[in-house]
Amino acid sequence: MTNCEKGFFVNLHAPYDLVYIKLPDSEYTFDKSGRLMWIIKDDAKIERNLNNKFVLKSDIGFDYLYKKNRVLSYNESWELYKNILHEIQFILNTMKSEPHCSKNCDVYKHEKDIIPFLEKIISYDFEALLRDEQNFNSIYSPIEIFPSDIPHPIIVQLTQGCSYNKCTFCYFYKNRCFKIKNLEELQRHIFEIKEFLGDSIFNKRSIFLGDANALTIEYSLLISMLDIVRKEFPIVQNYYNENRFILQKNKSNKTRFDGIYSFIDAMDDRKLTLNQFKELKKRNLEKIYIGLESGSNRVLSFIKKCNTVEQLINITQTIKQADIKVGIMIIAGIGGDKYYNEHVNETIKVIEKLNLNTEDTINFSHLVLSDKASYKQDIIKNGIKKLTYDQEQHQIDEIVTGLKISTTYFPNIRGYEVENVRF
Ligand code: SF4
Repeated sequence: MTNCEKGFFVNLHAPYDLVYIKLPDSEYTFDKSGRLMWIIKDDAKIERNLNNKFVLKSDIGFDYLYKKNRVLSYNESWELYKNILHEIQFILNTMKSEPHCSKNCDVYKHEKDIIPFLEKIISYDFEALLRDEQNFNSIYSPIEIFPSDIPHPIIVQLTQGCSYNKCTFCYFYKNRCFKIKNLEELQRHIFEIKEFLGDSIFNKRSIFLGDANALTIEYSLLISMLDIVRKEFPIVQNYYNENRFILQKNKSNKTRFDGIYSFIDAMDDRKLTLNQFKELKKRNLEKIYIGLESGSNRVLSFIKKCNTVEQLINITQTIKQADIKVGIMIIAGIGGDKYYNEHVNETIKVIEKLNLNTEDTINFSHLVLSDKASYKQDIIKNGIKKLTYDQEQHQIDEIVTGLKISTTYFPNIRGYEVENVRF
């Protein structure tokens, strides 16, 4: 692909069915509906979420470690977006007023398709972005946490909130009642999601079942819900090439998804059996994320987690026997200085018992103290000090380097940021 001599480049067929635009000082990526996805400028990356939050990403440390992000204010977002539209308008004006390129570059070869797309972007003004925000917030209850390694997901909230809601460190769903949608509500929810996404659906690759523990839904209802989800979002395994980049649309130009993802909690009273997990696997449940938080039972008891380590090991092994991948969520710094070594050593022991392999992930987050959660008061009462950011980082390193797992089976290590999730 060649750049245009006029200093810009447009690729309408970038990976993940996105549109990539490059100018001398900036790079922009849009989806097929003209929604801005992200910007790279001055070595910084700014992502735009579907709820219209612009998030400045800054990578710190190794790639599996924490990415500390910041949500831009409305004024900052607007200024930024104005400049983007200005630059897109410049390309559009140039292509219209100078309809030839002496080098016959790739941009001008595709002029007939590029010009309407640039016009589509221009029509997506800040008011349209604000409408996006309102629509998004009317379709979804706030999305609080979400694993960052799920490939381009559509979130479908089968439930809202958390059925347990008592972990002391967790502030996500406080003051929110747990609710399971009925089948009509789910159908309407999916209809609204599709209406909202429009052509944005083309860059989506997977389905995430929200919120915190959708798999606690009574089994037969869960199966009916999954059948609706699969009918509305057809899933074809291995539909994408091995890089999961290229969407191969069928003749009717419909998009396909390659799997369903969800959280689960290891609550014993809602245990799914091996056969039930196998049925879920047949219904394309690809991967389940489990909140281990810590491998120490004393830490789990301190944070009032709903399960013991042994229960978590059992459920993980059952899930793996059903050939479903797992993502193990661990919180760096949980238990503070008092439990520092115990958290590291016991977590290593538990991970080693889980028989993870390269398709599984260990997802680390840093501990976030919130006034909405009682953990902050609990550590003060117990004279426990919160670890510093660097100590937590060090704890992650100690856990990862302490694992005695053959490199052939070593799971993927990922960091995820609890605040400012991307969707
Ligand atoms: S950590 Fe998970 S199970 Fe515990 S209250 Fe929060 S969402 Fe619920």
